Amino acid sequence: MLELRDIHTYYGQIRAVQGISITVNAGEMVCLIGANGAGKSTTLMTVSGIYAPVQGSVHFEGEDITRTSPEERVVLGISQVPEGRLVFPDLTVLENLELGAYSRRDKQGIRADLDKIFESFPVLQERRRQRGGSLSGGEQQMLAIGRALMSQPRLLLLDEPSLGLAPLIVKRIFEIIEQINNDGTTVLLVEQNAQLALQMTDRGYVMETGEISMEGTSADLLADERVRQAYLGE
Ligand code: ATP
Repeated sequence: MLELRDIHTYYGQIRAVQGISITVNAGEMVCLIGANGAGKSTTLMTVSGIYAPVQGSVHFEGEDITRTSPEERVVLGISQVPEGRLVFPDLTVLENLELGAYSRRDKQGIRADLDKIFESFPVLQERRRQRGGSLSGGEQQMLAIGRALMSQPRLLLLDEPSLGLAPLIVKRIFEIIEQINNDGTTVLLVEQNAQLALQMTDRGYVMETGEISMEGTSADLLADERVRQAYLGE
């Protein structure tokens, strides 16, 4: 479904991503783990089109989308839940969700998807008229995921959904992500919580200073001595 070939993405002189290749198959849940500053977010934003690589290509469902705008990528079926959630604080919960569907014209479909999201996240329905900025961290994460789902993505990109949340809330968020994946949406997940990410996903890539240092099934990575020492604190 998704193929990154030899991607290099720089910020001026800073070589954030230096020649990485990643594939994600339809239906999979794949994670990208690694330390702070390893280049995980940059990689995700190269997939969503926020940053253009200086070298390499991005293919989605067989099509070269390396130069496709972020808006077009949403229409093609790629949606990102950004790090820090970035909900619009002064818009209501409902308005935040409706914005996720900005590229759609099928009013009935939008209504049906809204109902589905309210079913998955009852708290968002209760608070639909409340300002996004007044929600708790966990509720904002749910809102950011709901907003991304409103564009009906086939590939969902998640950047650190556990960031700053209490363990119980993280558990709930990951149950929801698992459900989304079971319902047929492919997931590429960036996480600093390597243990959790590897437990939740099918395959994983480890990033170190802009490069992929290891890859494999999540079960193999979880059992790997180097991963255990470097990322699981053992
Ligand atoms: P984290 O988990 O801390 O978000 P990460 O693995 O996602 O880390 P990136 O955010 O992709 O890493 O950062 C990779 C490198 O690029 C880092 O050295 C970072 O300082 C640098 N970087 C990231 N964003 C920018 C930017 N907008 N301008 C300049 N440098 C940046």
